[in-house]
Amino acid sequence: MLNFLIIGGGPAGLTFANMLKQKGENDFLLIEKENVAGGLCRSVDVDGSPLDIGGGHFLDVRRPEVNKFLFSFMPENEWNVFERDSRINIRGQLIHHPLEANIWEMDIESQISYLKSIASAGCNVGSPKPDRFTDWIRWKLGDKIADDYMLPYNRKMFGKNLDILGTYWLEKLPDVSFEDTLRSCLVHKAYAKQPGHARFYYPKKYGYGELWRRMSLVLGSNIRLGESVIDIDFDNRSIRTDKGEYQAQNIITTIPWKMYKELKGMPDSIKAQVDKLLHTSVCVEYFGENQDTTAHWVYYPDPELAYHRVLVRSNFCNNSKGYWTETNKDRVLSKGDGLFAYMNEYAYPLNTIEKKEAITEILDWCKTKRVYGLGRWGEHEHYNSDLTVELSMRLAEKIIK
Ligand SMILES: Cc1cc2nc3c(=O)[nH]c(=O)nc-3n(C[C@H](O)[C@H](O)[C@H](O)COP(=O)(O)OP(=O)(O)OC[C@H]3O[C@@H](n4cnc5c(N)ncnc54)[C@H](O)[C@@H]3O)c2cc1C
Repeated sequence: MLNFLIIGGGPAGLTFANMLKQKGENDFLLIEKENVAGGLCRSVDVDGSPLDIGGGHFLDVRRPEVNKFLFSFMPENEWNVFERDSRINIRGQLIHHPLEANIWEMDIESQISYLKSIASAGCNVGSPKPDRFTDWIRWKLGDKIADDYMLPYNRKMFGKNLDILGTYWLEKLPDVSFEDTLRSCLVHKAYAKQPGHARFYYPKKYGYGELWRRMSLVLGSNIRLGESVIDIDFDNRSIRTDKGEYQAQNIITTIPWKMYKELKGMPDSIKAQVDKLLHTSVCVEYFGENQDTTAHWVYYPDPELAYHRVLVRSNFCNNSKGYWTETNKDRVLSKGDGLFAYMNEYAYPLNTIEKKEAITEILDWCKTKRVYGLGRWGEHEHYNSDLTVELSMRLAEKIIK
């Protein structure tokens, strides 16, 4: 029997496994279904340069401890640092993100109508905070930003029925007050707290996937690539894969809960919570032409366009050209015209109204069996890779004796 089994070789699993190694624990195995580790953070070479097949991936500068750990696999001098330049294409005008802080970049008539709308938003006139996603967006940002940007954009990303989403995760949105918006229009400068990825790293010579590939190489025979986990048995603390069976004192599971064909020994009430976990899928499609912008990426709320985001590769990846689009699977109409396409079945965990309670029950019960859900899918949270790594490091500190 192994001491640790780790299911899934994305950032969560790779971090946990490397923490074990660094602490001198070698009695473990990481099992990954793909032939290359890295999960959503993998890259491939397309049209002469790296392309991140899980969508645009950048390493935030915000977590120095995490970055110190990651730079031990890929030194800091192998990365470029960028000041974020992301835009929103609002009816043909390319406005910097976040929109509320950059309305001053619009034509005067648009500025007036957006300012009027924000001034009368529920949060600025003392209305109580609503419970439904769509109402919350209107309450926080006003009808105009809701109708022109936030609602169409979120429908494109998360699906038509936004009312299944909760509001508990929306505190993550950039918080720009009406006063900040007004001040920015008067002085022609953004006023707002910095959003995530305000400064970020991207590798000089490689795609983001290189970091995780290197982390997997260090693991040697402790990692099995190209092996798919099928079932988990909580009573025996064992798993069945397409190649064999394994048992361990502790199991760290980072794959989507619904990937398990059977959750043996899990009570029906907890299985019912697993059924409630929903996700969306994203197709990444590459095109070879250059885009006429300095932006690293651009958001497209226009419902007429299938994709919701364009990543301008030539603006963050050295010596590259072209761009890629990101499109919700339900909006991919036919085989695209791009030079390359990749479908990420598991891209975004959906923050539905029921999710918070469901995942808490699942994780609490699993912990009693020494099975630990970890990462974007193990915890079913919109974690970015830096936060995923931090949480893996913390779990490792807690449970490695
Ligand atoms: C479009 C998009 C853009 C993003 N942009 C950023 C960004 O700019 N910066 C950032 O830091 N983060 C970004 N993220 C988030 C980032 O992708 C995640 O934080 C990170 O990948 C989470 O790592 P993980 O290991 O938890 O999950 P994953 O990366 O999903 O890894 C899970 C692993 O489990 C494996 N697996 C699944 N099923 C099985 C099975 N049955 N058996 C064995 N293995 C299995 C998968 O192959 C995969 O390798 C973005 C995500 C998306 C979708």
